Amino acid sequence: MRLARPLENLIDQLLKLPTIGPKTAQRLALYILKMPENEARQIAQAIIDAREKVAPCSTCGMLTDVDPCAICQDQGRDQRLLCVTEETSDVIALERTGFRGRYFVLNKNFHLMDGFNLDDLHLAPLIDQLASGKVQEMVLALNPDIDGEVLSRYLADLARPYQVRVTRLAHGLPVGGDIEFADEITLRRALEGRHDVQP
Ligand SMILES: [Zn+2]
Repeated sequence: MRLARPLENLIDQLLKLPTIGPKTAQRLALYILKMPENEARQIAQAIIDAREKVAPCSTCGMLTDVDPCAICQDQGRDQRLLCVTEETSDVIALERTGFRGRYFVLNKNFHLMDGFNLDDLHLAPLIDQLASGKVQEMVLALNPDIDGEVLSRYLADLARPYQVRVTRLAHGLPVGGDIEFADEITLRRALEGRHDVQP
């Protein structure tokens, strides 16, 4: 049976989203058709608005609708601490920890395995911040995978001429995890990142 073409098209569009498979796409499309029309329009309009009004901050790369973003404008932030992340979603997670430094978001939309050139990352605003002399420590909060490893070394090299201390998040065992089930790399990193136990 062939579906109505606009319905088929909606399913195809939804299929482009991550974690959405054919069955979910079909269920969502049929759900959208059953919604009150104004609600369906609100979803469509929200996608258009977000695409038109949200863009990376010219200073830190975080997705924002004001440039510079609220964090870059916040004078209460510690200018000496600059945390580098891959995505805006990482900043949202780090903000929940109470971190009060500033950020630089790489907006990395590639995998190094696919042959991306590191020189194509837009790092000029990061270099400007390192060169400003205000940053004393660059905290690399990159994902603990191959790309994160390569990027960490690359960024540490980049910071070297500016005498900025470069640190990275400790990798280790997840809270609630079992040592016996941890993989070798996680366990080795956890050992390397060991610290004193305060009495
Ligand atoms: Zn910003």
